[in-house]
Amino acid sequence: MLSKRVNGIAESATIKMGLLAKQLQDEGKEVMNFSLGEPDFKTPEHICEAAKKALDLGYTHYTSSAGITELREEIAKKIQAENKVDVNAEEVIVTPGGKQAIYEVMMSVLDEGDEVLLLDPCWVSFEAAVKLAGGKPSWVKKLEEEVKYEALESAASENTKMIVINSPNNPAGYVLSDRELNEIAEFATEHNLLVLSDEIYEKIIYERRHVSIASLDDMQERTIIVNGFSKTYAMTGWRIGYAVAPPVIMNGMLKIQQHSVSCAPSISQYSALTALRGSQECVDKMVKEFKRRKDVIVKRLNGIGLRCVNPEGAFYAFVNTSNHGNNDIEFTERLLKEAYIVVTPGSAFGSAGKDYVRFSFAASMENIVEGMERIEKML
Ligand code: GLU
Repeated sequence: MLSKRVNGIAESATIKMGLLAKQLQDEGKEVMNFSLGEPDFKTPEHICEAAKKALDLGYTHYTSSAGITELREEIAKKIQAENKVDVNAEEVIVTPGGKQAIYEVMMSVLDEGDEVLLLDPCWVSFEAAVKLAGGKPSWVKKLEEEVKYEALESAASENTKMIVINSPNNPAGYVLSDRELNEIAEFATEHNLLVLSDEIYEKIIYERRHVSIASLDDMQERTIIVNGFSKTYAMTGWRIGYAVAPPVIMNGMLKIQQHSVSCAPSISQYSALTALRGSQECVDKMVKEFKRRKDVIVKRLNGIGLRCVNPEGAFYAFVNTSNHGNNDIEFTERLLKEAYIVVTPGSAFGSAGKDYVRFSFAASMENIVEGMERIEKML
């Protein structure tokens, strides 16, 4: 009944675990949810007000498929000023969530059998998007080791078309160093590859600084930046992402957008505009709080023998469970059964994650403290 395409992909593990936590909570179980990477903060007030205003003004219809002009212009300005990439509004497409942008990129550039280099582990939906578009993932391990030209070389073939990077990283929490970015850029240029750079966690960063690979010499023409408002402004439900792409690719994405979703939600686009134009104090506050939680969860996890490196960015602790003799699936089940704790098993992010589980610390401090106590007892 189902297509080979759909049979070839797995359910989204992050969404599945998030749903499981919700179901258990609805049944009245006292579940601590560290699964989904979703800020627990309310969307800032001024952004919500902008939505009410948009409603009152009757901005409730289709917008241009690529997004409202003001928002595309504001995004282009942001990319120029903060990411040092010289783009204009015509190179920006606003999408219903960053995920849709990623899917549109894959559908626009991949032909059957084209290969895409993915850093292992990586966020669950990259692999699915590559496969849905008929492509084939090829993996390069990147956990605590540096990304090296040689490693990219040995994973690549003559069919390789693109490399995907995501820094700050979900799930491993690293931020790619300048050296690694240069190495990836050199490799992409020499092999004439596209680079999809998912920068959705760019503001949620604790160490180093965020550098967009598109700002490196000669990289803009081969890079697609994907970003969005979900994480930075706690706007997951508003579904607003965007991509900045070379014009040919942008036109491909636009065709897919026209034929699939038409446009991103109109009201959300006006709110996103306010998010960019307004004070960024709300972002600083949320990031400060994420850092506070990170410091607590990382210290507690390591203290109870669940080794994890200090994340440099994003809001995930990627925890090695091998001290406890369990693989990731067993450990996830054990946490659920014995402590009512929901996490995402590491192997969902690639084979490098098979002895890991991912804790999202976009959860309240109270839950983090209580969750850690339960685990300590369990172990
Ligand atoms: N990106 C978040 C996560 O990894 C939200 C869920 C999803 O889109 O996969 O948990």
